[in-house]
This record gives sequence, C-alpha cells and structure tokens, in this order.
Amino acid sequence: MASIQLHFKGFRTGSTFGVFAGVFIFSFGLMIGLIWPDQQRVIDTANQLQDRTVPEIIRYQRLARSLDQLRQEGQRVFAGSTPEEWQQSMFVITLVASHPSVLEHPEAARRAREVERFLDGVVREATSDPNAFDNRIEEWHRQSALLGSLVDDVSLQGVNLANSDLNNIAAAIQLARFKFNLTMIVVGVYLLLFLLLLRLHLIKPLQHIDQALANLGVDQPAPNFRSAAMSEIRSVQEAIGKLHGSLAENEAARQALEALANRDSLTGLYNRRHFMAAAEAELHRSQRYHRPVAIGMADLDHFKDLNDTYGHAAGDAVLCAFAVLLQETLRRSDLVCRYGGEEFAFFFPEISVADAAVLAERCRAACASNDIELPNGHKVRVTFSMGLADASESTLEAAINRADKALYEAKRRGRNRVLISGDRWMPSEQNPPPPGTDDGEKTQA
Ligand code: GH3
Ligand code: MG
Ligand code: MG
Repeated sequence: MASIQLHFKGFRTGSTFGVFAGVFIFSFGLMIGLIWPDQQRVIDTANQLQDRTVPEIIRYQRLARSLDQLRQEGQRVFAGSTPEEWQQSMFVITLVASHPSVLEHPEAARRAREVERFLDGVVREATSDPNAFDNRIEEWHRQSALLGSLVDDVSLQGVNLANSDLNNIAAAIQLARFKFNLTMIVVGVYLLLFLLLLRLHLIKPLQHIDQALANLGVDQPAPNFRSAAMSEIRSVQEAIGKLHGSLAENEAARQALEALANRDSLTGLYNRRHFMAAAEAELHRSQRYHRPVAIGMADLDHFKDLNDTYGHAAGDAVLCAFAVLLQETLRRSDLVCRYGGEEFAFFFPEISVADAAVLAERCRAACASNDIELPNGHKVRVTFSMGLADASESTLEAAINRADKALYEAKRRGRNRVLISGDRWMPSEQNPPPPGTDDGEKTQA
C-alpha cells in the first residue's frame, strides 16, 4: 500500500499574519458589539430621564404642593372666624381640588374631593352652630394627617421614579465597564501572546540566522538550526545549510585542484613548479636568518636500461617505489620533488651541506640495498647518483646548477654515489661501490 508522506513546509508568514489580524479584528469587533447595547441602554435611559421622568417628577412635586396647599387652606378654615374668611378658603380649596394636576392622580382626586366635601360641610354647620369647628376638629386632624401622608407618598413616588432610572443607568454602566475591562484583558493577553509568538518564531530564528551568517566558514561546523515554523525562515535556514555545504565542497575541490597543480601525478611528490616556488620562499627565509641550507639533485642510474629490459610500466613502478623510499628516509621538513623524468630535486633546510650529504647517503644506501618488486613479480635493485650544493649564500638557480654539476660528476665517476659541489669535488662520507657493477668506483677527493 502506497504510504502518503506529508512534507510540512511551515506556515507562510503572510497568511499567518493575516489569520492573526483577522482573529484580532473579529474578537475586537465582537467585544465592541457586546458593549454596544449597554452603551445604548445608558443613552436611552438618560434620554428617558430627561424627556419623561423629569416632567413626571415635576408633576408629582406640583401635586404634592397642591395637596399641601389643600391642607393649609383647611387649616385656615378652622382658624378663620368670619364667613368671608371661610368662603375665601373654600374657594381656593375648590380650585385646588379641581386642578388638573390633582384630577389626573386618582387617589389625590378622591382625597381632595373628600376633604372639600368635609370642609364644605363644616363651614355649612358653622353658620348655624358656633361649636361646629370644635366638634369636627378631631375629624379634621384625621383628614389633615391623611393629606400629609399622601403628600409624602406623592413626593416619594417622584423620587422613586428618578431612582429607578438612575439605577438602570448605573447597572448599564457597570455592565459596560465589566465588558470593557474584559475586552482590554482579552486584547492585552492576545497582544502578549502575539508578541511572544513573534519573538519565538520570527525574531529568535532571525537572530540565529544572523549568527550563523556571521560564523559561516569552511572551518566552522555546519549551522544547526531548530526547524522554524515559518516557511520563509525555513527556506533561509535551508539555503544557509546548502551554502555551507557548497562552501565545503568548493574547499575540497580547491584542495584537490591545488594537489593536482602542485603534485606529480605518477609519484605523488611535489612537481617542479611547486618545488621552485616553495624552495625560493624557504631559501629567502633561511638566508634572512642566516640559517644553513643545502640543495640536491639526484638521477636514477641506467634507468633507460631498466625501461628497455622490463618495460615502461616497470619503470613507472620503480619511480613510485623510489618516491616512497625518499619520503620514508628524509626528514619531514625536507622538500623533495620530481624534477623531471627520473630526476629529483631536494631542498634541505636548517642543515649544512655536509649534514645533507649524510642524509643523502642514508637514502642512497637504503635504495641500493633494497629490492623493488615490479608488477610482473620480478625484483630489481636500482641506484641513484646525487650532487649537493650549499645554498646558504647563493640564488636557488645557482645552487641547482652547482648541484647538477656535482650530479654529473657523480655519474662520471661511476654512479651510485653522492658528491658535494665545491672548489674541489668532495665525496660524501661513505660511497661504497654497488655490488657486482662497474659503478662501484669509490670517488676520492
Ligand atoms: P644514466 O645513468 O646516465 O642516468 O642513464 P639513464 O639511462 O638513466 O639516462 P637517460 O637520460 O639516457 O635515460 C632516462 C630514461 O628515463 C629515458 C626515459 O625513457 C626514462 N623515463 C623518463 N621519464 C620516465 C617515466 O615517467 N617513466 C618511465 N618508465 N621512464 C621514464
Ligand atoms: Mg638516469
Ligand atoms: Mg636522466
């Protein structure tokens, strides 16, 4: 069954920000929508207070005033002594009792009519009975007390009307304030979360990228990123990883090219071009610090014969084996190159020509006493001749020329030997004749 592999490439920055902005606008809009009705309730209740409740309160006050006036006029009737005074007060009482502000309130209208009827009756009695007021004073106190309590009730009703509206407004404001505070907390938490995510998924990865770019180099380990959530950041991280990889590849290719350019392809030794450049630089350094330095030129003996006898491939194998022998015998600081064909050049730093001759002699002896196995299984022994020259105070070319001449002289004197260039040809310390050859002639000074 084919398995489906999902490659999650990360969130796209633009879309993610779009989603965040959308959620933010939606939640903010929702919160405003929730607060809106409470704000509207405050406005409506305030309007109602202004347009309806306040006139109502004024009406209640007017009614209370009228009822109070009714009570005072009744008091005046009982306090009056002449029929004119009683008639005057009764006139006011009739006016107040039939006033619209009293009539529109059923209880007040009923109470006013009752008081009016009572006082009218008292006044009528008083015209014939001088003790009428004294007889009816108790009743009047009762009527007056009822009027007084009605005045209090009416005033309280007006106050209650205002209280109810104000309570409504306060409740709406309180609810709106709660919702507003909740909105602010939600928005604050949302922004905090957003900033945290911004820091975690954008700022931090960018800082790591900046650091990785600053430290990018072939000698540095490959940058190790935590896989980012944002696809664009991921792409940059991958690009930096690839960049590091190609830097390492380029460096490896550069080193391979350098090796190709500097090394001899058959033996792996340095080639002549590199030898000349390196030896030139070393020679300058040695001469600046007055350090001894020697140059050597070596050539395999009768190599053509070996080629002719065993073939070119055998010759190649001998050249390779000879190169290995040189590298094993010489010091690490010595520079040796394949100068051309079966010819080799040497640079011996920090060593006098006489000491270089001891070193060369060790090589020669090792070469002459060891068999080399050819590809066809045959074993051969080869020898080489070498000329040495002191290079402490001469140019590289001059030293090579002198070493070359010494080499030529070594050949001329029978091969398989090391000769030092000088005013007089000096043999190296020990040059034993190669066994069973005509080249065994020991060179003497
Ligand atoms: P001498 O002792 O005088 O140096 O004699 P020789 O035969 O070594 O001298 P000559 O210069 O006449 O011969 C050098 C030979 O080295 C000729 C050439 O065929 C051989 N030769 C040069 N380069 C190579 C190489 O890369 N591989 C092989 N197999 N032979 C090479
Ligand atoms: Mg030769
Ligand atoms: Mg030669």
